[in-house]
Amino acid sequence: MLPADSHRRRLSRPEASADEPPSDRLAQTTCYMCACRCGINVHLKDGHIRYIEGNRRHPVNRGVLCAKGSAGIMQHYSPARLRKPLLRVGERGKAEFREIEWEEALATAARWLGDIRASDPRKLAFFTGRDQSQALTAWWAQQFGTPNYAAHGGFCSVNMAAAGLYSIGGSFWEFGEPDWEQTRYFLLFGVAEDHDSNPIKIGLNRLRQRGAKIVSVNPVRTGYSAIADEWLGIRPGTDGLFVFALIHELLRLERVDLNFLVRYTNAPWLVLNQPGGSEDGLFARDRDGRVLAWDRRSNSAVDAQLADIAPALAGEVTLADGRRAVPVFQRLAERYLDAQYAPEAVAPRCGIAAETIRRIARELATTAFEQEIVLEQPWTDWAGRRHERMIGRPVAMHGMRGISAHSNGFHTCRAIHVLQMLLGAIDTPGSWRYKSPYPRPLTPAMKPTGHAHQVAPGTAMPGPPLGFPLSPEDLLIEADGTPRRIDKAFSWEAPLAAHGLMHEVIRNAWKGDPYPIDTLFLYMANMSWNSAMNTAGTTAMLTDRAADGSYKIPHILYSDAYFSEMVAFADLVLPDTTYLERWDCISLLDRPIGSAEGPADAIRQPVVKPDRDVRPFQDVLIELGARLKLPGLVGAEGKPRYRDYADYMVRHERKPGIGPLAGWRGEKGDAVAVGAANPHQLERYVANGCFWQHHLPPDQLYFKHANRAYLESAAAMGFIDRPRQIVLQLYVEPLQKFRLAASGHGPVQPPARDRERIRQYFDPLPIWYMPFEEAAIDREAFPLHAVTQRPMPMYHSWGSQNAWLRQIYNRNHLYVHRRTAAALGLRDEDWVFVVSHHGRVRCQIRLVEGVNPETVWTWNAIGKRAGAWALSGDAPEARQGFLLNNAISEILPATGEGERFNADPVTGQAAWYDLRIRLERAPAEAGERPAALTPLPGTSAAPHVLRYGAGRAEPAR
Ligand code: SF4
Repeated sequence: MLPADSHRRRLSRPEASADEPPSDRLAQTTCYMCACRCGINVHLKDGHIRYIEGNRRHPVNRGVLCAKGSAGIMQHYSPARLRKPLLRVGERGKAEFREIEWEEALATAARWLGDIRASDPRKLAFFTGRDQSQALTAWWAQQFGTPNYAAHGGFCSVNMAAAGLYSIGGSFWEFGEPDWEQTRYFLLFGVAEDHDSNPIKIGLNRLRQRGAKIVSVNPVRTGYSAIADEWLGIRPGTDGLFVFALIHELLRLERVDLNFLVRYTNAPWLVLNQPGGSEDGLFARDRDGRVLAWDRRSNSAVDAQLADIAPALAGEVTLADGRRAVPVFQRLAERYLDAQYAPEAVAPRCGIAAETIRRIARELATTAFEQEIVLEQPWTDWAGRRHERMIGRPVAMHGMRGISAHSNGFHTCRAIHVLQMLLGAIDTPGSWRYKSPYPRPLTPAMKPTGHAHQVAPGTAMPGPPLGFPLSPEDLLIEADGTPRRIDKAFSWEAPLAAHGLMHEVIRNAWKGDPYPIDTLFLYMANMSWNSAMNTAGTTAMLTDRAADGSYKIPHILYSDAYFSEMVAFADLVLPDTTYLERWDCISLLDRPIGSAEGPADAIRQPVVKPDRDVRPFQDVLIELGARLKLPGLVGAEGKPRYRDYADYMVRHERKPGIGPLAGWRGEKGDAVAVGAANPHQLERYVANGCFWQHHLPPDQLYFKHANRAYLESAAAMGFIDRPRQIVLQLYVEPLQKFRLAASGHGPVQPPARDRERIRQYFDPLPIWYMPFEEAAIDREAFPLHAVTQRPMPMYHSWGSQNAWLRQIYNRNHLYVHRRTAAALGLRDEDWVFVVSHHGRVRCQIRLVEGVNPETVWTWNAIGKRAGAWALSGDAPEARQGFLLNNAISEILPATGEGERFNADPVTGQAAWYDLRIRLERAPAEAGERPAALTPLPGTSAAPHVLRYGAGRAEPAR
């Protein structure tokens, strides 16, 4: 990268003309430069992209475009784009390929996959990365018959998603959002700048304009934390303790919303007190299975879901059959009123003063209860009771990966939801709100499929690979407790692994544990670099050979649009298009773009034709499915059922009348969400800017979990099965079922090695424990926490190949608090080794003040392997950038328990942010680095300067 001045001197810049129209065509589609899925207007001239702007009508971004979005043009014209299918000819990892035709590529892939399917479909492990077509990819895996499928949620934020879905039937980010227009107090946990990018920036701007208070709880003060009114630089992994101290204070001051708790949560439900018994800790139920509460009026146990009872929230009761029970609320209050959660007790561990914690608790209560929002909007609740107003608590919360990516992350996220419920701040005016089609009830839940009787050669599975276990019987394990999935998701190792454990697949496949596989099929997942823990070890596993000389993972099939580090390890590469060259579907069956105002979905349309021999991955998957004769992908005569993905988007039905797209259904295009396929559906989307949005009427906008009109319309639109109240779960009973199994009850019990672990971590009320790595290592030898953040203008590894975005960041530093550095005798720009129990990484430091003093941090995924991404061999990303992943292990330090994943014990979420390190002085000269990758066939040396628009066409090199 040249300094800016020399750029100016050396580049001749074409003069801009104000008279000349900048484009001769405008096409609207959906951005894919990060996960937000904003609407964009793409301007083209002479068939080439000239510039990209935000679509002002689009519900996600309302015209706002971030740096990544506008730099999409350089992503599209990136020299790192793959050009043609590739077959490996050299050693794995060397990037030595020959170009082949698509027919050979598809025939080869179909041969590998066909052999597996005919013998044992589980020998296919199909894992996708930042895939926005999971409704298709998961369904394809189901048709293939393998349970070994997941996307990247297991190493991103499954703790947050699972905690939310098991507690409140929604979650932060994609399934919920703050009431930006009415919130007066916003508590933001662990949020970096890249996820929920434009929507949260727009929302924060509104809060600033309206004078709402923003409090950011984050070890690092960048981005959103930098504009907060108050930054609490918490020590990583202690957010749960901080939340418990807030709860402690609110309970002590009796500042909780009892009416909300009685009406909308399971606070009054009776929990059996039966120490050692097979029902201990389960809800008390009558003979018909109805959960009981204690009615103070009749002084008897009654159906807890009757509308007009006066349930007790405290006091032990004896039921007619002699069983003893207490309400959930009593258990909750007893736990969090304990002195161990008092602000003074948690302050030293969190690094937040006790007085600050007390003040935040008071501020939350004052805002919630003394500044309540009253909307003169009548509505009717689930029981038919009419309410003349909507009354809300203007306190909203939001959390993301910073709280999620710890081994105690599931319980931390649960703790935040409990805090929200105690304040009565769920889907009320001013609080956090569900994004339609959420909330969704946990029962009947979608269970994971893959039991022994559900997998057979040449057969589709009867259900989807991923789901939500509610009891040990739902686990995918053999009779002896051995995991049935290659990643060990839904086993005793990670029972509620709702998003799978992508970060453990390569290790398990390499070890043949629990069984060997044949083909590892990856899509958009840079698993040999920034998406792997233990990067060096992972690349060694990918290239390791058995005694007979064959690779231990026999086949690696990979699809990506770009020459990522992972390409070098593939045996067969299926080149994908860029996001501007294909149809795509952002579906309600997957991760929709709806808002609290109503459901929405979107498409992408091809804006330009590929100029390379590449194909959209989704088209390829559909064709492979047809070649393999997968049941859902061929018709009665064995002919392909779908022409391509666009055809699938329109004609596929998951249930009668419900397909990938909810807008303009029905033959005339006038049906909402449910209706026959409409052959003109894509035209309607394109005419509407490539999105569809349904506006909920005013009486359905709040209390969606208990709002009769909303629940009925959600059922009519197919979002929920029945219009029944969704009771918010302070106490998550399914967790107790796992605990009981670990105590020797029930037909499915864990092996001895897992019993204590399950008993300890499957607590139905949130708990806090020290993150596993921190507990296992010598904390004096590794005295610092190390975490990563994603910069606002980058998204995973994509951004740092982008010629415009590289001008913002083209290398990363390690940021160290000034006091910490001074104590270690380190100065700004010194070189250090980051040393963990697992490995070490060399990097250059920068001194800052906006970080917890016991924490160091860096930007993630900036460091690159030389030669990858078509960057020149001496690119700063490769020479000076570094990857913290090299210091992170996928396996915990030995604890005497045998090998354990470095993950949350409930969900299996990768515990990236548990890393503990020390700093050692390093030489300024670079040491050993991975060898530079060979340029791919058909590509020239990477350009020194990539210049946009020099010839009014493709950017010049
Ligand atoms: S936030 Fe930026 S990169 Fe992400 S989808 Fe929106 S415009 Fe694209």
